[in-house]
Amino acid sequence: MEDCLFCKFVNKELKTDTIYEDDNVLGFKDIYPQAKEHYLFIPKKHYSNIAEIVEDNFDANLVLNAMTKFAKESGLEETGYRIVNNLGADGGQTVFHVHFHLLGGEALKGFGS
Ligand code: 5GP
Ligand code: ZN
Repeated sequence: MEDCLFCKFVNKELKTDTIYEDDNVLGFKDIYPQAKEHYLFIPKKHYSNIAEIVEDNFDANLVLNAMTKFAKESGLEETGYRIVNNLGADGGQTVFHVHFHLLGGEALKGFGS
């Protein structure tokens, strides 16, 4: 996708702080962290949002597997973490290449806590 920021990270047109990469998935640090540790995981293939992933039968477990693997290896799993996906304006989505937030490194507020 031309003019997609996250596609430019995937094809290395732009640099980012990569913390995970495999054939299908890229993980990198969020530039405006909302927690002590805040990473974004994306499918390398461009989808605008999670609904498109489902519609195309893309295996979302490829991304979730990368996230849980990283969380285990980095130690985040020991204290726990949160995975978030936003869709559309009301959901707070600002970048339209689907991404999953991985937040942790401290006790997170919200969602009942
Ligand atoms: P959304 O609001 O769409 O769920 O999340 C978009 C995320 O992308 C935000 O948390 C924002 O901080 C992050 N972001 C926006 N621009 C950049 C950038 O240039 N580099 C990185 N690493 N993250 C970005
Ligand atoms: Zn893209």
